[in-house]
Amino acid sequence: MNIPHRLSLVIQTSHTLAEILDSAVDILAEELEVDVCSIYLVEPNTHRVRLMASHGLAAGAKGKVTLAVGEGLTGTVVKEMRALVVDDASSHPGYRYFPETKEEQFHSYLGVPMALRNRPVGALVIQSQERRLHDKSQVQALTAIASQLVGVVENARLIEALDRGYEGVDYLREVRSWHVGNARLAARERPEDAAEDLELRATAASPGIAIGEAVLRGTDDITLESFDRPVLTHQEEKVLVANAFEETRQEIARIQQEAREQTDEEHALIFSSHLLLLNDRTMHQRIDAAIDDGTPAQVAVFQSMERFRDQLENVSDPYLQERAEDIADVRSRLLSHLLEKSDGRTTTVSEKIVVAQSIRPSVVVELKAEGARAIVTTRGGPTSHGALLARSMGIPAVTGLRHALARIGSGERLVVDGAAGVVIVAPSGKTLSEYEERGRALTAQNEADLRFCHVPARTRDGRRIQLQANISVATDIAMAKENGAEGIGLFRTEFPFLIREEFPTPQEQARNYRRPYEYFPEGPVRFRLLDVGGDKLLPGNTMRADRNPFQGYRSLRLLLDHPNILADQVEAFARAAGTRPLSILIPMVSSLTELRSTCAIIHEIFESVQSGGSLEIGAMIEVPGAVEIADTIAAEVDFLSIGSNDLIQYLLAVDRENENAASVDDPYHPAVLRAIRRIIQAGHEANVTVSLCGEMAGLRPLALALIAMGIDALSVAPGTVPAMKRFLASSRVEPLETELDALLDLGEAHEIRAALEHHLPERILSAPE
Ligand code: PEP
Ligand code: MG
Repeated sequence: MNIPHRLSLVIQTSHTLAEILDSAVDILAEELEVDVCSIYLVEPNTHRVRLMASHGLAAGAKGKVTLAVGEGLTGTVVKEMRALVVDDASSHPGYRYFPETKEEQFHSYLGVPMALRNRPVGALVIQSQERRLHDKSQVQALTAIASQLVGVVENARLIEALDRGYEGVDYLREVRSWHVGNARLAARERPEDAAEDLELRATAASPGIAIGEAVLRGTDDITLESFDRPVLTHQEEKVLVANAFEETRQEIARIQQEAREQTDEEHALIFSSHLLLLNDRTMHQRIDAAIDDGTPAQVAVFQSMERFRDQLENVSDPYLQERAEDIADVRSRLLSHLLEKSDGRTTTVSEKIVVAQSIRPSVVVELKAEGARAIVTTRGGPTSHGALLARSMGIPAVTGLRHALARIGSGERLVVDGAAGVVIVAPSGKTLSEYEERGRALTAQNEADLRFCHVPARTRDGRRIQLQANISVATDIAMAKENGAEGIGLFRTEFPFLIREEFPTPQEQARNYRRPYEYFPEGPVRFRLLDVGGDKLLPGNTMRADRNPFQGYRSLRLLLDHPNILADQVEAFARAAGTRPLSILIPMVSSLTELRSTCAIIHEIFESVQSGGSLEIGAMIEVPGAVEIADTIAAEVDFLSIGSNDLIQYLLAVDRENENAASVDDPYHPAVLRAIRRIIQAGHEANVTVSLCGEMAGLRPLALALIAMGIDALSVAPGTVPAMKRFLASSRVEPLETELDALLDLGEAHEIRAALEHHLPERILSAPE
């Protein structure tokens, strides 16, 4: 059994941070075959580093030994937030001896930092009697484990801080600015017999029509008032609580399993904060005490969880907001199990439309695994990564509906039209049948599109392009193949780094990267180097969130500062490819220096692996500076790939996450299309192919415009492939080519859009030619 799985079992059965840490050091010492494994944590108020658990050091040292940050070897690891490898600790100038530990017998030392979003949390240390230097792979392995542990430790510390109502803790000191809307109240303000449908419009994030009941996530989605029953004996009430906890635990384990299958993620710790919360002893004691005072089970559970949430409700820190959402989620699961017992109410999201605050990638996976029909969120733009994931998983979604939680009541019927960005609350019978009909037409259209899967991507007048797929999770790959994609134009490799608190190991990465080759052995499979930062924040590690993340420390910039991560990833790509062709995409290239440094690392690692396969490197053009030097960049690489999602946000200064800034006309903006034409020309002059993998490639009028400009390949969401092939088979590109100059001279996005729509075929073919 591997370390994450063993740790996950510990979480399921532990009640306190101390229990978790004690078990973790034993597991690690055994699995890593070392004499000592210790965990040190930084105390929030004193900022001293305290030995919290140890396998191997003398028992009396635990909890007693403390160091200043920067003191001794471990204090240095915490201060400098980097690994420290020493073959003979006692002869190291930084060594500081603590007699309580009896550690003089242990010579080799390896300490790695535990950090969360650049906040030092502690250190994980292994020691052995023999004198030896730990090698790079051991440092990497321990670093990976430390980043797995840090999320668990922080969740456990948070819960303990909340248990104690501990106001002074760092992470609760944030300004009180976050406010969860009270849906029930707002829902009641609306007249019961409102004659017209309430139509709300926001961002079209993922197409598809869904009709169903709303279930609110991360807010007050269950009312206790409606629930009235005689209070049972204290013992019986406690049994109800125990059963609800057990059912919730099983439910989370099931979702975790399904989420893993959906994403091919092996990881077992995704829902650690939920599970830790269910085991929290203080909460159980509070519930029991309330029941002993005559409070019914559901009210006791509600109130004890409410205390937690109150403490976190208004914090502005994104990490804590996510934890507050977790608490709200666990609470609504517990209550739904309790209430279900008596009146059949449930808040399971299966077959429901989920209304939530955010569309985090991990939430999308979880909701898909739970069988949600659609997602409506208050935040998020059309190209936020949660939206891209919803699209690739086929869940209709509307994002950026700012007052959704206030305007939609739990249990209300909704219609979601993801392609139009429309949510209709309490639809009339007429509206409902209209949308049911549209839903049927859409299904019929999808079925007709599927007949085009295996025809080549070619326009009616014979222009052939490569139509490839963008993928991020395992299910995308099979769908890309089934739908007739001609390779993978963009493999977004961030997902396993985002969904969990830690980095996947190089072995896990190689396993993930091998999968697309099972479906596309001849390629192309274009792996993009880790592109984090911006809206893709890593949950727990030393790469930090920036004040201005989209224009700050992100993507390539950040990778070049962490060459180990870059090197590990390239090695994993090369091992996965073996003798098959390897294609690597470098994101966010903005200068030749960056490009050359990255290419040098890629070549060095690729050659060291000696896989025997071929290597091609492509540069993504997604910042305006790169457009200006596209010719020079093209001369250094094997192909160019235009990342239009980012290119648009940087050219037009529209944050892709911001629902107020983004407009559907953005990709039609003359600046965008002229920049793209220049990139294509620059690439072709340098004899390299140019593809485009942003979302605009999936929009029909724009796909046609791109082909008229000479693009060689388009890479779109896997679900879009058949419809795009069908559309191309009905469309002529030559008339557009002759008008292209005039079209790009138009000054306004809407004029370009109208002109392009004019070129759409009147009739889309109904069967392959
Ligand atoms: C892009 O920016 O267009 C792109 C394809 O990359 P991502 O959406 O993952 O940033
Ligand atoms: Mg991008």
